[in-house]
Amino acid sequence: MTRRTLLMGAGAGVLGVLLASCTPEPAPSPTPDRSPTPKPTSDTITPAAFARSSWSTDPFALGAASFTPVGTQVSERDALAEPIDDRLFLSGEATDTEAPGTIAGALRSGDRAAGQLLRAAATGERVAVIGAGLAGAAATARLVADGLQVTVFEARDRVGGRIHSVVDDKAWPFPAQLGGWLLGASDGEIRDHLTELDVRDVSLTGTRWRSADGDVEPVSTEPVQAAIASAQQGVTDISLEDALTEAGADPTEPGLAALLASITAFSGADAAQESSWFPPALPADEYIAPLGDLTPVIEGLLDGAKLSLSSPVSRIAYDEKGVSLGIASGESLSFDRVLITVPLGVLKGEGLQFAPALPFGHRGAIAALGMGRIETVWLRFDEPLAFAAPQTEGEPEAAIWHAVGGDGLIRTWFNLAPVTGEDVVVGIVGGEAADAFAKLDDQKVLEAAIASLAPFLTAV
Ligand SMILES: Cc1cc2nc3c(=O)[nH]c(=O)nc-3n(C[C@H](O)[C@H](O)[C@H](O)COP(=O)(O)OP(=O)(O)OC[C@H]3O[C@@H](n4cnc5c(N)ncnc54)[C@H](O)[C@@H]3O)c2cc1C
Repeated sequence: MTRRTLLMGAGAGVLGVLLASCTPEPAPSPTPDRSPTPKPTSDTITPAAFARSSWSTDPFALGAASFTPVGTQVSERDALAEPIDDRLFLSGEATDTEAPGTIAGALRSGDRAAGQLLRAAATGERVAVIGAGLAGAAATARLVADGLQVTVFEARDRVGGRIHSVVDDKAWPFPAQLGGWLLGASDGEIRDHLTELDVRDVSLTGTRWRSADGDVEPVSTEPVQAAIASAQQGVTDISLEDALTEAGADPTEPGLAALLASITAFSGADAAQESSWFPPALPADEYIAPLGDLTPVIEGLLDGAKLSLSSPVSRIAYDEKGVSLGIASGESLSFDRVLITVPLGVLKGEGLQFAPALPFGHRGAIAALGMGRIETVWLRFDEPLAFAAPQTEGEPEAAIWHAVGGDGLIRTWFNLAPVTGEDVVVGIVGGEAADAFAKLDDQKVLEAAIASLAPFLTAV
C-alpha cells in the first residue's frame, strides 16, 4: 500500500476559476501549513476540479429516482405503466417493477412501452416521444425500427436526462457523471452499447469504513436483511427504520447509520420512508463504472427520429382520434399516439397538464410512489490525497468509502484512484441529506465535501 502524501493548499487555480463564476467569495488561498494533524477545510485542501449536481431543484427531474414508500404496493408501478385509451403510453424508470430508479429499469421500461404502443399502432403513424432520457431513447429506437414516424420532444438543450456526462478534457481525465452511471450485473445491455462505443469501464470494489478515530470494522448488511425478512412476515408494511428497531437494532448507531446512508444514497429515500415489503437495494460488493461519455449511447438510440431539443411539453390533450401536444413555446402539434417518459417528479408537479385528467389509477400511482433525492459531487486533486493510516499491508486500496460517525453531510464516497490512477473522488448523498446538499451553493458544497472527507484525510 502506498502511503500517500496529504495535499495541502495546492491546486487552487482551476477551482478558483470555476467557483468565481458561481459565488462572489474569493478563491481559497494556499497555505504553507503542513501540520501533521490538520483539520481539512476548503481553504487548506483545494481540488483542481469540482462538479456537483442539483437534481432536486431541476425542473425537468424534480428529484433523482423513484422509490416505493412504506405502505405502497409495487403494483402501483404497473398501474402507472397502463396504456391510456391506446393513445398515451408511459415509460421511465418509475414504471419498472424489477429495477425502478436505475438505468436498467429505464432501459427496460422504454422497450416495454414501445411494445405496447406498437401493438396499438398502424404502420407509418406519427408518434411523439416526450423526453430524450434513456427510456425515451430506448423506446424511440424500437418505434423507428418498426417504421413509425417519431418526433422526440426534450425540454433540455441536451439528451440523456438523468444521465449526464460532463465532458471537459481540461478539468477531468474522464467525464464527470452527475447522474446515473454505476452499473451492476443486470446492466448487460447498456454495457454492450458502451463496449460498441469503446467506452472503457472499471470495477469498483473493496470497502473502507472509517471514523475520525481511524478504520472501523466493516458493517455487515446481514442485520438489515434479517430485519427486512422479519418485517415481510408482518400483516402490514412497516418502514425499514421501524423494521430495524423492531429487530433490536439502533438505526442511529454510527456504523448502521453509515450503512443506511449508503442505501439512501442509491435509493434517494431515508430508512423512515422506505418500505420493508418492497425494500431498497442493499449496497453491492462491486460496481462497474464506465469511464467515458454516456451521451453517444442515447444519441445512437435516437437515430432516425426527429429530435426537438429545448422543447418542454406543457399540455397533453387526447381523445379517441389522437393526441395534441402543447409546447411551452406556444406551438400545438398533433400525433396519433404519444409515449411519455418524463420523471415521476415532473408528473407529480404542475408543469405538465393533461386534458382530460389522467385516469384515477394513474393519478393514484403518481401520488403513492415517492420521488427520491440523490446528489453527487466530483472532486479531482492534482496530487494524491493522503490517508492518515495505510490499509492493511498487501490489500488493494478500497474504492468504496464509508464515513462512520461525525457530522459529515456526505458519507458514501467512491475513490477512483486505485483503478484509474487519477486522484478523483465521488461523493453521493441521498434523502434528507440530499435536500440539504441541493440548497447549498457551490462554495458551500465544496466545504461540505472536504469536511465530509475528514475521516479519510486527518491523522489518527
Ligand atoms: C445523482 C444520480 C445518480 C444515479 N446513479 C445511478 C447509478 O449509479 N446507477 C443506476 O442504474 N441508476 C442511477 N441513477 C438513476 C438513473 O439515472 C435513472 O433511473 C435513469 O437515468 C432514468 O431514465 P429515464 O429515461 O427514466 O428518465 P430521464 O433520464 O429523467 O428522462 C426523462 C426526460 O424527460 C425530459 N423532460 C422532463 N420534463 C419534460 C417536459 N415537460 N417536456 C419534454 N421533456 C421533458 C427530461 O429532461 C429528461 O431528459 C441515478 C440518478 C441520479 C439522479
